[in-house]
Amino acid sequence: MSADFVVRPSSIQGQGLFARRNFNKGERLLAYAGITSTVRPEQAAVSSPIYVLEIRPGLWLDGSSHANISRHANHSCAPNAELVFIDETTGGWLIAQENIPADAEITFDYGFNLAESLFQPCRCGQPDCIGYIIAAPRRASLRRHLRFSRPRD
Ligand SMILES: [Zn+2]
Repeated sequence: MSADFVVRPSSIQGQGLFARRNFNKGERLLAYAGITSTVRPEQAAVSSPIYVLEIRPGLWLDGSSHANISRHANHSCAPNAELVFIDETTGGWLIAQENIPADAEITFDYGFNLAESLFQPCRCGQPDCIGYIIAAPRRASLRRHLRFSRPRD
């Protein structure tokens, strides 16, 4: 494992990925190694960690391999990193979206759609956390959905 990162318990969920030194905005943090598939891999149990990500429409990346340290990075509604998929050979990379201080937890946007998000509560603890793991551009539609599906008294 890279000396630049450590995996330890996270206040967000389970294990988290933490920086051991400062990183600059735009810096490559770690490879997100995995197997790509144009067929969605089998959905893991709701309570288990999330390692399968749709990296672009119709293309999934299964990062569940134990060799993929990046799989420990949690989702956040205000992430400090971004998962960038380069190509099938290079795979994905976590890239710093801001300057990241040593000891900070590395988080990124899992990019879930509305249907996926409703089964995945978010505990990122950010002030504007919407409460579910959902892609940033889709948060407005989730807010509308939650407003209209709330029971009325
Ligand atoms: Zn959140």
